[in-house]
Amino acid sequence: MADANRIPSDSGDYVRIFDTTLRDGEQSPGATMNVEEKVAVARQLERLNVDIIEAGFAASSPGDFESVQRVCQAVTKPVVLSLSRTREQDVDQSLKSVDKAARPGIHIFIATSEIHLKYKLNMTREDVLDAATWAVARASKHVDHIEFSAEDASRSDWEYMAKVCAEVIRAGAKIINLPDTTGHAIPEEYGAMFAYMREHVPGADKVIWSAHCHNDLGLAVANSLAAIRNGARQIECTINGIGERAGNTSMEEVVMALRTRRDLLGVESRVNTRQIYPASRLLAQVIGQPVPPNKPIVGDNAFAHEAGIHQDGVLKYKLTYEIMKPEEVGIPSNKLVLGKHSGRHAFINRLAELGVDAAAIDLEKAFAEFKALCDKKKVVYDDDILALVSEEFRRLGDQLELVDLEVSSSSKETPQARVTMRVNGAERTEASSGDGIVDATYKAILKIAGINPVLERYSVKAITGGTDALGEVSCMLREDGITVAGHGAHSDIIMASALALVNALNRLRARGRTPQVRASDGP
Ligand SMILES: [Zn+2]
Repeated sequence: MADANRIPSDSGDYVRIFDTTLRDGEQSPGATMNVEEKVAVARQLERLNVDIIEAGFAASSPGDFESVQRVCQAVTKPVVLSLSRTREQDVDQSLKSVDKAARPGIHIFIATSEIHLKYKLNMTREDVLDAATWAVARASKHVDHIEFSAEDASRSDWEYMAKVCAEVIRAGAKIINLPDTTGHAIPEEYGAMFAYMREHVPGADKVIWSAHCHNDLGLAVANSLAAIRNGARQIECTINGIGERAGNTSMEEVVMALRTRRDLLGVESRVNTRQIYPASRLLAQVIGQPVPPNKPIVGDNAFAHEAGIHQDGVLKYKLTYEIMKPEEVGIPSNKLVLGKHSGRHAFINRLAELGVDAAAIDLEKAFAEFKALCDKKKVVYDDDILALVSEEFRRLGDQLELVDLEVSSSSKETPQARVTMRVNGAERTEASSGDGIVDATYKAILKIAGINPVLERYSVKAITGGTDALGEVSCMLREDGITVAGHGAHSDIIMASALALVNALNRLRARGRTPQVRASDGP
């Protein structure tokens, strides 16, 4: 493989950022992304200057395979890799999915803890050792960037795990990841595990050690920093900390901790921190999961000083209470951006600043919708624009499309809805009554779709201030054990509700076509 793919041993002392938003992050309920959305997030990850993008789990479904391929074509700077079990078919599919990448890689994992060996894998210690070594050796014939993960490392026997690590290093692994898969570790013990492995594994000095933490006890970032203090030089993390259960290590938190406390930690990442806020907003819009106001670094309140005494201090001298500057993480000082008089050029420029590639969306349509929104609202905020374009991403490749919606309601009459949709190109209209306008609309849409899933969650949020704000609706549907989330944004809340349901139905269809790997698979 090409030289560019080799990991130089003299690459300097810094912390590599391995972003798994598109793999581990996407495995969390409701965070499913379509291919276009993944490509948009990957482009933003490249702007962030992350070192590695885990683009998916190629062998898990044709959709995942395609996503990995598309991410490989969309970016050139970061290494792009696919997650892989130790099976032959997985390794081959993963390698195939990244063969067009400028810098390809593979991430092979197998569990090493007794509990996983006994109850999940039904394998002996020897079996696991053989499977891991075999898979790494097979991959090493084709690719240089090979990461091996000892899944559930934090609950594994250190002596046995050291043996596995030594063997996979001999077989060609360049990065060894010791994940806290279950979010069970405490910083001191997680750090001690890295110190032990680096001391006891032959060849430990030739590889990069990596931390992968989950936030079940709220310790993912603390554990990652403990690993760094004990010699780890790669952190696996996600934008906004999304991920299974309580989430993964939050990229923005760990990057800013390294930067802000370089005095103590002595190493930093190479992330362009000014792209952090745009990345956070883009992802929130794409998956329709808002960032909590008190979220460190990227929450609305992260830099807001309400208490009078603090405000006084901040006004006199910023560093009295601020340990970081909002500009450092790319928070715009002026959130008011565009309006009625903004032209096409300004719109495209703003899209680029927000991390959206104009080539990846129907620009004419997005611009027309932007102009329509400018007519309705005096000012258009970044979040409004992101909502508009993520609406574009959501619709790409859809089988079901909302064409028209008519509703009638008064306090005396039963609410009625009449919906026209395009189903695989053909238009169909249905009407229904309901307990409210949203209920009537949902019933009419489900009549056309011809299925009856359980609506597990429905929520409405105003994206920006004022009664003319764009409303964003999120809903979660479940059918036959598959759960999907749908999101819709519109200045009319009933339209936003209809778009969210149609979006979820499209995702349900897309998911139903392809067999899924159990969501909890992976380190
Ligand atoms: Zn994980």
